[in-house]
Amino acid sequence: MPDFFDLSRHFTSEERSIRESVRKFVDARILPTIGEHWERGTFPTELIPEIAELGLLGCNLQGYGCAGLSDTGYGLAMQELERGDSGLRSFASVQGSLVMYPIHSYGSDEQKTKLLPKMAKGEIIGCFGLTEPDFGSNPNGMLTLAVDDGDSYVLNGTKRWITNGNLAQIALVWAKVGGPKGEVRGFIVPTDTRGFEAREIHHKVSLRASVTSELILEDVRVKKDAILPGVRGMKGPLSTLTSARFGIAWGVIGAAMACFDCAVDYAKHRVQFAGKPIASHQLVQAKLAEALTQITNMQLQALEASRMKAEKKLRPQHVSMIKRHNVHAALQIARACREILGGNGITLEYPIMRHMCNLETVFTYEGTHDIHTLILGQDITGIAAFE
Ligand SMILES: Cc1cc2nc3c(=O)[nH]c(=O)nc-3n(C[C@H](O)[C@H](O)[C@H](O)COP(=O)(O)OP(=O)(O)OC[C@H]3O[C@@H](n4cnc5c(N)ncnc54)[C@H](O)[C@@H]3O)c2cc1C
Repeated sequence: MPDFFDLSRHFTSEERSIRESVRKFVDARILPTIGEHWERGTFPTELIPEIAELGLLGCNLQGYGCAGLSDTGYGLAMQELERGDSGLRSFASVQGSLVMYPIHSYGSDEQKTKLLPKMAKGEIIGCFGLTEPDFGSNPNGMLTLAVDDGDSYVLNGTKRWITNGNLAQIALVWAKVGGPKGEVRGFIVPTDTRGFEAREIHHKVSLRASVTSELILEDVRVKKDAILPGVRGMKGPLSTLTSARFGIAWGVIGAAMACFDCAVDYAKHRVQFAGKPIASHQLVQAKLAEALTQITNMQLQALEASRMKAEKKLRPQHVSMIKRHNVHAALQIARACREILGGNGITLEYPIMRHMCNLETVFTYEGTHDIHTLILGQDITGIAAFE
């Protein structure tokens, strides 16, 4: 595993230990079957109890049965999971950062006590419903509405591209209260509520070992206590996304490492021209040198962001930079490493093409690459260029 600057020396023994235990789990339990799952388009649900047992669900949250890891420990866990597959890391990110985190930060005591311990154990799975068919990069335009009706709210709308949608027992649905110009609020909706339907999206050629769904809400009635009381407006979903994007920036280091390690090994063994391995050619070495430099840049950015997070100095704009930089770098590394494998690189016998296809989704979700460019552009100039 590339660690050119020996950054591991900065990790605590607990952080190194979580990295090693997730690494072993991925080697033993994920790598042997993930290619098959990816090809079939299935998520390995049988691994959920083991992922929970390792403490990976909501692992940087305190209390309520959560592991209470440091931010670096959380990042390393995401890195190792994504070394297996971005679908596995997405499952854990959605559960921990997109659903448990907002419940932990903005939920009532009753919501926290009832849901978080079971979510940490993987007994309740959650999904995060923000994106709609016509509102992705601009979620504030959402059409999903919640109407106040005495002792309950009635929700109507459609959410699309929802990870874990068909696995989930609860959906955190973001909806406007008081009409199309109303305030955005979060609602915890049990997925067996009448009027709620999750339809799985098939024919994906990216993130195939992950469940992605459309959620349809038709007169879904929830009790008043289903609302997240502690947050109002777009701050709710946006602060939640910031927490998940931090994990993505760490996670994609794992995908890049898997591609790099595979390409180095292949290049040393694959012989072309004059009986020499392709690793002996300068053009191949140039690709590997560039990949290692990019991985090192990714690691440095992620580690510094963790330190700033611990010091409470990390702004959402910093997270935009690391998400944007690290996913882009991982995708470039995957493409260069795929080239090194030649024809073999396009098969599922090797992990690279699977990672490369997955990274196309990671490039787009949780704020596209270009939207993060605009967030940074606004931070630099003070001028918003979104509209
Ligand atoms: C597999 C998968 C899983 C996902 N999981 C979830 C989930 O669990 N929950 C959830 O809520 N969402 C989820 N998403 C949705 C994801 O966050 C959105 O796809 C993403 O925000 C982009 O929205 P969009 O697809 O509607 O693209 P659009 O917003 O239509 O963007 C299309 C293109 O236009 C560009 N663009 C848009 N606006 C501008 C602008 N102002 N200036 C310049 N360029 C612009 C974008 O950068 C992009 O390149 C998931 C998506 C995928 C593919």
